[in-house]
Amino acid sequence: MSLKETYDTDNIFARIIKGEIPSVKIHEDDEVLSFMDAFPQTRGHTLVIPKKAQATNLLTVDPDVLSMLIQRTQMIAKAIDKALAPDGIRIAQFNGAPAGQSVFHIHFHIIPVWEGGAMKP
Ligand code: ADP
Repeated sequence: MSLKETYDTDNIFARIIKGEIPSVKIHEDDEVLSFMDAFPQTRGHTLVIPKKAQATNLLTVDPDVLSMLIQRTQMIAKAIDKALAPDGIRIAQFNGAPAGQSVFHIHFHIIPVWEGGAMKP
């Protein structure tokens, strides 16, 4: 897997956007879709993805899309903070398989964390 690999229009997140695979939606607008991670690390683990951009990772995404995506991530993180009152929130983003990326459609993870590891999924 190269960091410059071409975008696969049939990757899992592209199929979620197309409605071919179900997701538990947290937020949707013209630009982004946010949904629950299917294998959550903690309760409320949420993903945020751009709907139109066909970009695999941070290195290849258009900077304007990236700006929009991180601003939506902040907005959704604030909503998660209000809803679940975590003690901390981890924002994660992986580029390339060796770095831990498994779905090659750029995305941010929002991972609420609690002191003492409470509120596991
Ligand atoms: P990693 O798999 O190491 O977390 P990524 O940053 O590529 O790497 O994250 C992809 C995320 O997508 C994973 O957290 C995984 O649990 C999640 N995922 C995989 N398939 C689905 C799905 N159908 N619906 C929701 N989330 C999914």
